[in-house]
Amino acid sequence: MNIAKKLISEKEIQEKIVHLANQINNDYKGKELIILGILKGAFIAISDLAKNLNLDVSFEFMSISSYEGSESTGQIKIEKDLDIDISGKNILIVEDIFDTGLTLSSLIDILESRNPKSIEIMCMFIKPHDKQIPVDIKYQGFKIGSDFVVGYGLDYMGRFRELPYLAALS
Ligand code: 5GP
Repeated sequence: MNIAKKLISEKEIQEKIVHLANQINNDYKGKELIILGILKGAFIAISDLAKNLNLDVSFEFMSISSYEGSESTGQIKIEKDLDIDISGKNILIVEDIFDTGLTLSSLIDILESRNPKSIEIMCMFIKPHDKQIPVDIKYQGFKIGSDFVVGYGLDYMGRFRELPYLAALS
């Protein structure tokens, strides 16, 4: 399987990151913020975002997968949980891609039960899906098509995460 075509260039992605970072810098000025990165796919976006933040910020990570057959069961599995107490904290989740909405909607439910002060979401790539669970994503990167994509943290069987651009596979 080869890379079919570049969908979004490195330059476009970097410009978007700066734009989102500026919004986040404005919105959280004077506040403490915890960036909650969702592994593995968001690792490049988190790193690029971090370099453009000018805030009192710390970084935490969770690793989440869908149970097999998740479309029918609608469940996620926490592979690595947070090791801090988030009650009373401002949380910004950074996720790679939004498709069915299962991951983010389930994660929000789990985190809200831990009583944070606020939770917002940044997601780099938003796909259309006819049965999408609605989730409010405040900081949105790019709306893309329904093709399977790789690059900028996203993989196909563990490969292609390192690409600095987003591509579709053939
Ligand atoms: P959701 O729970 O919204 O259906 O999907 C989110 C997860 O599905 C992402 O974190 C990612 O792991 C996976 N995913 C959905 N679409 C794609 C895609 O086009 N490419 C890759 N590499 N992963 C995807």
